[in-house]
Amino acid sequence: MNESMNESPALFDPNARPSLVGKTRAQLAEALAAIGVPERERRMRVGQLWHWIYYQGSTSFDVMLNVSKALRAKLAETYTLERPQVVAAQLSLDGTRKWLIRLPPVDAKDKGAEIECVYIPESDRGTLCISSQVGCTLTCTFCHTGTQKLVRNLTAQEIVQQLIVARDMLGDFPGLERPEDGGLIPVGEGVRPVSNIVFMGMGEPLYNFDEVNDAIGVLTDGEGLSLSKRRITVSTSGVVPQIAPLGETSGTMLAISLHATNDELRNKLVPLNKKYPLKELLDACRTYPGAANSRRITFEYVMLKGVNDSPKEARELVRMLKGIPAKINLIPFNPWPGAQYECSDWETIETFSDIVFNAGYASPVRTPRGRDILAACGQLKSETEKLRARARLALDDEA
Ligand code: SAH
Ligand code: SF4
Repeated sequence: MNESMNESPALFDPNARPSLVGKTRAQLAEALAAIGVPERERRMRVGQLWHWIYYQGSTSFDVMLNVSKALRAKLAETYTLERPQVVAAQLSLDGTRKWLIRLPPVDAKDKGAEIECVYIPESDRGTLCISSQVGCTLTCTFCHTGTQKLVRNLTAQEIVQQLIVARDMLGDFPGLERPEDGGLIPVGEGVRPVSNIVFMGMGEPLYNFDEVNDAIGVLTDGEGLSLSKRRITVSTSGVVPQIAPLGETSGTMLAISLHATNDELRNKLVPLNKKYPLKELLDACRTYPGAANSRRITFEYVMLKGVNDSPKEARELVRMLKGIPAKINLIPFNPWPGAQYECSDWETIETFSDIVFNAGYASPVRTPRGRDILAACGQLKSETEKLRARARLALDDEA
C-alpha cells in the first residue's frame, strides 16, 4: 500500500496558533501563564491538560470537561491540539508502516521539513523508529542520511509528536475522535501498540541532547504516554562526552553504532571515530551509568561485504567487548543508490554470527524490515525524496 496524502508545500503562517501537543510540562505552564492563568493554578491545570493530551489523545479543547468553559475558550483562541501533517503513508508486506511527516514551517523560508517515522510490529512488541534531526552533520560512509546536510535539530515537541502521530494512525488513543471518512487509519484487531522507541531514524541524537532528553521526559511520564525507559533506546555513532550524561539524566537504553573493530577502518566508516576513537568509546560504555547484565548496551554492526565481515573480525569484536554488559546486533547492510558498499553474503553473515553466538550472545542478526517500502535503517527520507522527485518528473513529462 502506498498512499500519498497532501503534496502541496506547507506555507509559513506568522499568525498560526501554536499546538500544545508535544510540549513538556514546563512549556505547558508557560503557555498557561501567557494566557493569564495565575501561578497557583498552573500546576493543576498542566496536570489536566497532560491527561487530555497525552493519556486521552484529545484533538479538541471542548472535551476537557474538568477545565472551565472560559479557560477552554481562551485555550482554543490561542492554541491548537494539531498534529503535524502526515503527507504519505506506506504499509509493507511484513506489516511495517512508514509515515512521512511534514513539520510546520518555522519561518517564511522554510517550506516545512519532512521526517520519516517507521513502525515495526513484532509478536511481542511494537517498535517506533524516530528521528532526532532532519538530516545529519556526520558522514558515515554507508548511511544514506549521512549524504544529506543537516537541515536542523528537531525540538522536543517534534520528537514527541512522532509518537503521537503513530498512535493516531494506529488508533491507539482512548479519546481519539475518528475522522468522519475513516481517513487512512488502518485500525484493526491485533494492531500492536507502540511499546518501544528507538532513536534510529535520521540524525545523531546525542548532538541534540537537550531536546532528546526533554522528549524522553514526556514519553516516559507516567500520567501520559507512559513508555518505560527500558523500552527506549538511544543509538549513537559515538559522541563520547554525552554518553555518561545520557545515562545519568534519561536512564534509557544505549546502542552504539560500532561497525568496526579497529580505528583505521572505523575512521573510514564512522568519521566521528577520528575525534572519539574506539578506546575512549569503549571506556565510556564500560562506565555507562546503569549498565548491567539486565540492562545491556547494544552494539550495532553493519555487515559490509569484504570490508568488516571476516571471522577474524568477529573474534576481535567479541574480544573487545569483554567486560561490558553487551548485546550484539548484526545489521545486514541496506543498499541505496550510489552506495559504495554491498551487503555481506548470507553465508558470511552466518559464519560471523556463529562466532558471536558461540561467545555467548543470543540471536544477533537483525532481520531487515520494511525493505519493500524503503523503511530500513539508513534509507530514511532521502529515498522518499528521490521517489517524489521521480514522480514529479513523470508528471512534468506528461504535461
Ligand atoms: N545517528 C545514530 C542513529 C541513527 S542511525 C547512529 O548512527 O547510531 C541508526 C542505525 O542505522 C545505526 O546503527 C547506523 O549505523 C545504521 N545504518 C545506517 N545506514 C545503514 C544502512 N545503509 N544499512 C544498515 N544500517 C545502517
Ligand atoms: Fe548520522 Fe547515524 Fe547516519 Fe552516521 S549512521 S550519518 S551518525 S544518521
